[in-house]
Amino acid sequence: MVTPEEGLQLSDSVQHAPFVGAARATLFARLGVHTVADLVKHLPFRYEYESGHMPIGELPLDVIATAIGEIANCRFVPGRGRSQGRFVATLDDDRNRLDLVWFNGGYLRDRIIAGMQIMVTGKVSQYDDHRQMVNPKWQIVNDETVIHTDARYRPVYAATEDLSSAQIERITDATLPMIWEQIEDHFDEGYRGPRGLPGLAEAYRMMHRPGDPDEAKNARRRLAYDELLLLQLGMAIKRHHTQNDLNAPALRHSTAIDQHIRERFPFELTDSQNAAVEEIAVDLQRTIPMNRLLQGDVGSGKTVVALYAMLMATASNRQAALMAPTELLAEQHFISISNMLKDSSVRLALLTGSQSAADREATHRAIEQGEIDIAIGTQALLTESVQFADLALVVVDEQHRFGVVQRAAIRSKAAMPAAVPHCLVMTATPIPRTLSLTLFGDLDVSTIRGLPPGRQPISTRVVSPDQEATVYEYIAQRIEQDEQVYIVLPAIEESSAELKAVRTETERLQNEYFQGKKVAAVHGQLKRDEREAIMQRFRSGDIDVLVATTVIEVGVDVPNASIMVVEHAERFGLAQLHQLRGRVGRGTKKSLCVFVADPATEDAEARMKAIAQTTDGFEIAEADLLIRGMGELLGTKQSGLPPLRVATIPGDMDLLQLARRDAQDIISTDPRLNDRAHDLLRKRLVKAYGKVIDLGDVG
Ligand code: ADP
Ligand code: MG
Repeated sequence: MVTPEEGLQLSDSVQHAPFVGAARATLFARLGVHTVADLVKHLPFRYEYESGHMPIGELPLDVIATAIGEIANCRFVPGRGRSQGRFVATLDDDRNRLDLVWFNGGYLRDRIIAGMQIMVTGKVSQYDDHRQMVNPKWQIVNDETVIHTDARYRPVYAATEDLSSAQIERITDATLPMIWEQIEDHFDEGYRGPRGLPGLAEAYRMMHRPGDPDEAKNARRRLAYDELLLLQLGMAIKRHHTQNDLNAPALRHSTAIDQHIRERFPFELTDSQNAAVEEIAVDLQRTIPMNRLLQGDVGSGKTVVALYAMLMATASNRQAALMAPTELLAEQHFISISNMLKDSSVRLALLTGSQSAADREATHRAIEQGEIDIAIGTQALLTESVQFADLALVVVDEQHRFGVVQRAAIRSKAAMPAAVPHCLVMTATPIPRTLSLTLFGDLDVSTIRGLPPGRQPISTRVVSPDQEATVYEYIAQRIEQDEQVYIVLPAIEESSAELKAVRTETERLQNEYFQGKKVAAVHGQLKRDEREAIMQRFRSGDIDVLVATTVIEVGVDVPNASIMVVEHAERFGLAQLHQLRGRVGRGTKKSLCVFVADPATEDAEARMKAIAQTTDGFEIAEADLLIRGMGELLGTKQSGLPPLRVATIPGDMDLLQLARRDAQDIISTDPRLNDRAHDLLRKRLVKAYGKVIDLGDVG
């Protein structure tokens, strides 16, 4: 008879794998397993050492072991006071007896009964002259029971309620041997050997069924390497493509141009800013499209560096665009750049989503006709059908909101496919080197270290909500000394009693603490002109207290504002708190930042501790990485990339470095992976990243 699983293929639905069928296939779907190949990639996340099944009399002490026997007797022992009681049983295998104890085991009363054959797995301990297992895993022995007699590392799989890890184990046990031979390796022995990597099929075998912990480690290393290599290959190809197949306009630069630009700045650049300017100026004079990340802490002065670059485009009679993540920030850039370029011939335009259709239309036309030199805006610049006459440079502010995917879209703004603008991306959330290599491996990096001179340090306090009166009364005193305050709240409208919101708090704070002071609110639901007017009044010192949502999180620059209060601080991420705090400490006044927090989780507690401990963005970023883990930072939301499944960062940093070097080597000799030897690698790369990374003409 032909069983359905004969001739099972990797691409088959998992339904056809042994012991699966339609019902279990639905359960597998919940785990993201649809095909047999997915089943192979559904890896155990840890292992449990188990000595094999043995007679009770021979069970070793203090390791996880398995015994089978009949329940000789059992009963529930009720607890006293707070204790919930325990379920005790005696297992008998005809020669010896084993005591079983389940604490809080009341639920077992009608499940385990005398006379039943069960298999128990757990740690064996000696107790007087008895042997016992505490809280063992158990199952009824029937014809589905797999009994292992050898010691082994038992895989533990992600499971669901109706599909246990043990069942997945049994299914993979039967399935994997049928398809090992179909797993093709994209690397040959000559490549793997020097890197100490096992073959691919072998790696999957060792991952699912390791003979010992070293095998599992080796297997994981191979699979993590592959994952990182594909990612780095994607980056390397992109980079190669940008550098060799695409052209950007070479911009002019000279001492005269340099002087001309600097005359516009109200201050001298710091050494660090000058170094960044120099790196950028070198890039911009070449036809290789610049692809550079400018990172520097909050308030380090990145805008002026970007403006320098944009004015180089203007000096060559070409256009530049500056994109900000929020309208508020775009508006602010527009205002401050307008101020610096007052009475110059540079033509600026602001383009945001909340402008009227007619205004936008007119601005589009001016940009198309080359009547605008520098366009400043939000994603509207990207997403709408804006055609630039001669776009030479795109600056993207606050890169942490613009991933690899969005940058690919920028490049498509070029008039001709092979001609692209230079690209400068800026981030005020310094990205740990580990992460920038992974996420932005295709970028060159300039870093501004330190802050401009004359800044006063910010002192940070974390207080609990019941200290509100102390905080606000103190702040009211400081307002008397002409200081200005931000108060940040997580919501605009009150939605629950626990969560303070902008609308209600503005009024309450005004009445309770800030009588006679000017209090105003700003949030995302205001019309643009209202919002601009309020920001303008805050900037000019006419407003004392600005109550706001996180619309002011990034980029907002009002040097006289020296105090910030963040309510419900436990709800914000670490990077976000650092960003918020960066709104103060921008002038020459001693600044204060108060985080009002009621941390309920360990993570929240750790975030509060980290933010109070340092104002160094790099340290914050590293702490963030530790608290949140790589998974979330790499998650689709921020980067647009699929998350890593096997590799972990920073844990696999050395593998990442290796993968990066290897990827660069491979691409330097075979930039399109056309070599027959790279066929499989190319296919897998396109499958993994083809949709999210613009891979040029690969694939
Ligand atoms: P960020 O890097 O956070 O974008 P900004 O570009 O907004 O920082 O700069 C923060 C503030 O520092 C601004 O008010 C800016 O005018 C000021 N600034 C920038 N560079 C210098 C400098 N070299 N000397 C003095 N002030 C500077
Ligand atoms: Mg900025």
